[in-house]
Amino acid sequence: MDIASRIRKLGFRKWYERQLIECHLAFTTCFLAGITVAACLEALRGAERGWISATLVAAVLGAIALGLYSWRRYLTVLERAEVYGNRSNCPSCDAYGRFEVLATGQTAEGPYLDPPSEGLPYPWLRVRCRRCGTEWRIPD
Ligand SMILES: [Zn+2]
Repeated sequence: MDIASRIRKLGFRKWYERQLIECHLAFTTCFLAGITVAACLEALRGAERGWISATLVAAVLGAIALGLYSWRRYLTVLERAEVYGNRSNCPSCDAYGRFEVLATGQTAEGPYLDPPSEGLPYPWLRVRCRRCGTEWRIPD
């Protein structure tokens, strides 16, 4: 499900909250993978060659891969949440996260002919404030 559909379904506040939970779960996974690497390396120092040391090496490699994936996921999800979170206040009445998504896209095409967001891998959202009716775009 894309970002606009998820925000429409959950509302911006819940979507943002879930993004933060997801990125911090990834951060915790990365931290635990680091501890696993350290523990396995420590155990590997005293282990004799054989299937136990091979298993420890495999666990280290797996934990490194998981840690790198989790770190990248943490940065990606956090950046995405901040990109949308930074523009989630209504420019007129300053209501936070109280908007409905009117349109979305990643190019200048569309009903509003907005210029594309430079360098952003995320779609723009045309939103309308539920309190005062002001429309704006996220990100700008
Ligand atoms: Zn407003």
